[in-house]
Amino acid sequence: MQIYDTLTSSLKEFKGINGKRINMFVCGPTVNDRPHLGHAKTFIFFDVLAKYLRHKGYHVFFLMNITDVEDKIITKMREENLQWEEIVTRYSGEFFLNLKRLRIDSINYFAFATDFIPEIIGQIKRLIENGLAYETDDGVYFKVRKFKGYGKLSHQSVDALVSGARVDINERKEDPLDFVLWKKKKEGEPFWLSPWGEGRPGWHIEDTAITETFFGPHYDLHGGASDLIFPHHESEIAQMEGISGKEPLVNYWVHTGHLNVEDVKMSKSLKNFITIEEVLKHYWPEAVRIFVLSIQYRGTSNYSEKSIKDSQIIAEKISLLHHRVLGMEQIENENSIMETAKILEPLDHDMNTQEAMVRLIDFLKRMLGEKSLQGSKGGEIKFVLDQIDQVFGIVRSTHIPNEALNLIIKERNAARKRGDYATADSIRNELNELGVKIEDSSDISFLWW
Ligand SMILES: [Zn+2]
Repeated sequence: MQIYDTLTSSLKEFKGINGKRINMFVCGPTVNDRPHLGHAKTFIFFDVLAKYLRHKGYHVFFLMNITDVEDKIITKMREENLQWEEIVTRYSGEFFLNLKRLRIDSINYFAFATDFIPEIIGQIKRLIENGLAYETDDGVYFKVRKFKGYGKLSHQSVDALVSGARVDINERKEDPLDFVLWKKKKEGEPFWLSPWGEGRPGWHIEDTAITETFFGPHYDLHGGASDLIFPHHESEIAQMEGISGKEPLVNYWVHTGHLNVEDVKMSKSLKNFITIEEVLKHYWPEAVRIFVLSIQYRGTSNYSEKSIKDSQIIAEKISLLHHRVLGMEQIENENSIMETAKILEPLDHDMNTQEAMVRLIDFLKRMLGEKSLQGSKGGEIKFVLDQIDQVFGIVRSTHIPNEALNLIIKERNAARKRGDYATADSIRNELNELGVKIEDSSDISFLWW
């Protein structure tokens, strides 16, 4: 399998440091707002990557951090007049709920930054000892020019960075390029004790403190959205390699591209900021996953009403096929293994999920065209769908027996007959949630999956 590595700007053959055991870390969210479609794109992609590696026989430890203290969280505390704990509980809760709904369930451990304060302090101490950090009256900073190789991930020289560097007037650092490791407390901010007084960690140091705790100074794969390459990931390299004196920090830097909405960059000010919750009101989670898998993960891609509608149609077709083989025994034979391998094979080429979707649609067309799925055919389809679902999470199934469904439809038709449309609508919506679609003609409702 080959995967693109941002550090070397090249496709690299995938090989684990410890054989089949893979240590993988992906930057999680800052919990200050509702998760949006950009989050869905990033986290669905890495969910599928972890699942595909597991499908290939790797044992993946998938670690994700949750940034639970940061400037944006403090701003939100003030805006909503809430305590720090309340903001963190609310928005991390929203995040986990959205992951569950989107079937992102491959992550082994979520590490909240503030649970790692001793490890963060330990790293900052070692950076000071190594002459790579210094204390001022408002915090502790990393001395960027002291670390040779700063800029190697984002492929820019330190001198080129200087012109773009901004100095916050509140910061008392020696060089505009230096970044903060520890911020001393200001009035009304959450704080923790440290050798430099009360305060809170900077953003970049939490990741290396967490990954060193679990994986040590060298691990297999670090992922995240491409807007994190600089300065976030660049600074992670400087911190960890500056502490350990070893390089590289990770063997594969994997970054997902930006998501536009109707060809415009998503931003709060443009009010085209689409939350996951909003999309899931109208479309199945499986449709969102199919949308993400239908685009190339590295480039900038576009979300549109049409693209999600198309994905919904594919999700429904998969569900329809799955329903036709419900109750059949899976058959693992040459045919079903070959069909599965054909669909998944493009993932070996830098996770080309786009091509995998093309092949899946071809499979759907062929199988839905079959008049009868008796004999071994149905069991083979069931095997393929099960394998595909383990990697992609796109087979929506209903476990409601047909008899029960018929009863529900009968009751709903009775409600429509007596003009109780509120009940009829609510039954339809709830069945839709369960993956069952009802379509009404003038006097009768029928079902399909
Ligand atoms: Zn991060």
